[in-house]
Amino acid sequence: MLIDNHNRTINYLRLAVTDRCNLRCNYCMPAEGINFAKNNKLFTIDELSKLSEILVAQGIDKIRITGGEPFVRKDLMVLLRKLAVLEGLNDISITTNATLIGPYIDELKTLGITNINVSLDAINKETFNKITRRNEYDLVHNNLIRLISEGFNVRINFIVLENQNTEDIIPILELMQHYNVSVRFLEEMPFNGGSKKFLTIKWTYKKILKHITDAFPEITELESPATSTSINYRIKGHKSTFGLIPSFSRTFCGSCNRLRISATGDIITCLYAKPSGNLREILRTNNSEEAVKERILEAVGSRAKTGFEAQEKYATVFSNSMTSIGG
Ligand code: SAM
Ligand code: SF4
Repeated sequence: MLIDNHNRTINYLRLAVTDRCNLRCNYCMPAEGINFAKNNKLFTIDELSKLSEILVAQGIDKIRITGGEPFVRKDLMVLLRKLAVLEGLNDISITTNATLIGPYIDELKTLGITNINVSLDAINKETFNKITRRNEYDLVHNNLIRLISEGFNVRINFIVLENQNTEDIIPILELMQHYNVSVRFLEEMPFNGGSKKFLTIKWTYKKILKHITDAFPEITELESPATSTSINYRIKGHKSTFGLIPSFSRTFCGSCNRLRISATGDIITCLYAKPSGNLREILRTNNSEEAVKERILEAVGSRAKTGFEAQEKYATVFSNSMTSIGG
C-alpha cells in the first residue's frame, strides 16, 4: 500500500498517455499548442502497461487514462485491453474530449470500461468552438449522447470561464436534466501553457453554486466518497446530478489519494507542485521494477500537505499546460 508522509493512502493513478491533442482549449494551451514531446520521450504502450503493473502491485487500484487526448494514440485500445485483465486494478476510467471515441465505444463496453469523463465547456456551438478553437461540437455532442444512452457512467467536466461560458451553466443543467449523467463544474486553474496568468478567479465554486441555486432553489446535497474532489447535488425533479470541483480553491487536499504520471514520465504528487522525479529512463533500464518502486516511494514520502504549500515552494509552476499534466 502507498501511504504518503501525511498519512494519506494513495490508490488512484492518473496516467497521461500522450501530451498531444486535436483540440486547443484556450484554458489548457495556447492556440499554437505547446512544445510537444518527441515520440521517444513518450512511453510506448508496453511501457505504460509495465508501469501500470508495477504501480498496481504497490497498491494502486484505480487508473484514469488521460492526456492530452488519449484517443489520438492509435494504439490506446492495446493498453486498455491489457489493463482490463490486470489483477488488482478495480477501476479503469478515461477522461476524453469525446471527438475520437466513437469507433471504440463498443469495445470499451465489452472490456467493462464504463467510467468516462467528457469535457464539454459549452452547449452553445459557437461558444464551444471558440473555446476549443476547432469545429467539433456536433461530433462531441453526438458521442456524449451515445455514451449516456448506451449506459456508460458519464460525467461531464465543464470548466467555468469568466466572460466565456457562464451563460451556459443553467442551460447545460436544463439540457441534461433528463439524462443519467453528472455535470461537474470546475474552477479554472492556471495551467494553460502560460498563455494567461492569474492569481485569483471570480467564478469560485461558491459563486457557481449561488448562480445555480438562484435558478434552481430546490437542491439537495448528495453523499460523496471521502476522497471525492466534487461536492455533489441533485436539483429537484432532475434525473441528472451536478457537482462542484474547487480545483483552484483546493478544499479537498486533506483527503487527496492521487498520484499523476505525465506523458513523458514525470511523477506529479500535486497538481500545483513541480515533478518529483521522472520514471522514463528508469523504466527503460533492465530490472527496472525495484528502481521504479523506490522512486515512487520517495515521491509519495515527500508530498506537500496542500496545493497551497506546493505552490509556495515552486514559484514557476504556472507555466505548465494541463495537456502534459493530464488534469
Ligand atoms: N483531452 C482530454 C479532455 O479534455 O478531457 C483529457 C485531458 S484534459 C487535460 C483533462 C481535464 O483537464 C479536462 O477535463 C480539462 O477540462 C481539464 N483542464 C485542462 N486545463 C484546465 C485548466 N486550466 N483548469 C481546469 N481544468 C483544466
Ligand atoms: Fe485537448 Fe483536453 Fe486540453 Fe482541451 S482540455 S486542449 S481537449 S487536452
